Amino acid sequence: MRVTVLGGCGAWPAAGESCSGYLVEEDGFRVLLDIGYATLPRLLHHVRAAEVDAVLVTHGHPDHCADLNPLLRARVLGDSAVAPLPVHAPPGALDAVLALDGPRMLAGGLVAHDLAPGAPREIGPFRLDVFDLPHHVPNAGLRLTGASGRVLAYTGDTGPSPDLLALARDADLFLAEATYPERVPEEDAPYLSTAREAGRTAASAAAARLLLTHLWPDTPAEPALAAAAASYEGELSVAAPGVTVDLG
Ligand SMILES: [Zn+2]
Repeated sequence: MRVTVLGGCGAWPAAGESCSGYLVEEDGFRVLLDIGYATLPRLLHHVRAAEVDAVLVTHGHPDHCADLNPLLRARVLGDSAVAPLPVHAPPGALDAVLALDGPRMLAGGLVAHDLAPGAPREIGPFRLDVFDLPHHVPNAGLRLTGASGRVLAYTGDTGPSPDLLALARDADLFLAEATYPERVPEEDAPYLSTAREAGRTAASAAAARLLLTHLWPDTPAEPALAAAAASYEGELSVAAPGVTVDLG
């Protein structure tokens, strides 16, 4: 399983950056986890639009799903006929981004599936387990298990939750929202996380690698890395375009 970071900015893309988007590949199958602002041009450095096999969107904020619109445009308006794209998202999460074009424009471009906790589902070679995590809007934590048995756990955007431990348990890679290094402003404290908390969860869950993501735009990586390293001793880095992690 290989994970390629397309972007890691929270909220909006800083100069030359992109918001949340991760390309996950195994056995030739390509799934995107989130597709936020400015991720499509980066994706197209790696694969053609027609080569994406599925998209999983954690929640409906545009820093996680805005570039679904240009991805669908590239597939529908491009030269060759492409099968409808399976897109999994919490109910209603895609309403706004899909309304950017009239219904005829992208007709047949996608097949939408609701994401919710429950029985695991199969996405190509992956098993997907979904966790309902606290954010301003419904947010699906995603745990992908590859055919190889490798596990990628991704929080989306989340406040503190006991379910994070189950999401990240023994993961080969824990991709964790860490908007702030040490402290979330009070009004957002139930809905966002810190690097310090991500480090604690990664340590408790015995995750093999921790990749911090969704840092506030234009903030340096070092304070986030230091906060996470206070409790986590494994392999630790910050998500940025071009970072690739091979999970074997
Ligand atoms: Zn976000």
